[in-house]
Amino acid sequence: TPAKETKMLVRALFDYDPIEDTAIPCKEAGLAFSKGDVLQLMSQDDSTWWQAKREGDANPRAGLIPSKPFQERRFSLRRPTALVQPQKVSSRRSSILRRSFRLSRKDRKTNKSMYECKKSDLYDMADVPTYEEVAAYRRPPGGRHRLVVLVGPTGVGLNELKRKLLISDPQHFGVTVPHTTRGRRSQESDGVEYHFISRHLFETDIQNNKFVEYGEYKGNYYGTSLDSVRSVLSKNKVCLLDVQPHTIKHLRTAEFKPFIVFVKPPPIERLRESRKNAKVTSEKDDKGLTKAFSCFSEEARFRSPGTFAGMFRYDRAQCNE
Ligand code: 5GP
Repeated sequence: TPAKETKMLVRALFDYDPIEDTAIPCKEAGLAFSKGDVLQLMSQDDSTWWQAKREGDANPRAGLIPSKPFQERRFSLRRPTALVQPQKVSSRRSSILRRSFRLSRKDRKTNKSMYECKKSDLYDMADVPTYEEVAAYRRPPGGRHRLVVLVGPTGVGLNELKRKLLISDPQHFGVTVPHTTRGRRSQESDGVEYHFISRHLFETDIQNNKFVEYGEYKGNYYGTSLDSVRSVLSKNKVCLLDVQPHTIKHLRTAEFKPFIVFVKPPPIERLRESRKNAKVTSEKDDKGLTKAFSCFSEEARFRSPGTFAGMFRYDRAQCNE
């Protein structure tokens, strides 16, 4: 029977060379790949060895790659005990982990490193880097990149997500510069943190439907204009925008044809963990900025001053709240 063809795409989160893999049934049949490569899964019929092609290869050939469950299992068995930090794991969580790693009781008893890893931060996060599912993003031939609108519950980390995407590829992604009627602060420049405009002009622009969204905060208007979205797209970048769901209707136009991405919150335990960490690091530095994010801004400014300054402003505002 022909192998079940799937179109699923995954990004590899580890380097793999079948020549060095003692478990593979036939080294020649293996497909070597590097961390970051995108693989098309051709068959997941076998629970240990999947068949995949590498995207972007001139003559892509299907080869064997370790399946996700298999790689997770042996990765966890290989983890050095030196990394292990004793940590309490709830019995429910540990049973979920045990199930997801599909280890027998004997395996668990006989493998010390596995057993101790269960108590480590790494293991507890169940973040064994194997493959992550991705979707193909294709720019229309000869056309501009599309607008990507992120929506999700408050506090889910849309800003974090935007920031990570920007850091990952500042040439590919861009964010809008908002308009405001508040006065420019000494360290700010017009067109970088904000476009500083008069109240009269802002109200005229509201009347003329120039804003995707706007609001009033401490007596000043703030808003994102349609032109600021166009400006990012005209630089041949993917424009990332996070808005309230009611705003989407203004963006679903023939001009933007946005991808709307609902960002599903991680499990509550994970969310609490990450928020807790954010608190720990959110002390102010001597300029009154939040340390955790001022680190980010250092990197951001270093990498791409224009694009990131606006993001930094958002983060600071969030922390101060
Ligand atoms: P700041 O004046 O400190 O730069 O920003 C104050 C607040 O303005 C932020 O916390 C944020 O809530 C709001 N703000 C900034 N930019 C925008 C925007 O583009 N749209 C909306 N609705 N609010 C914004």
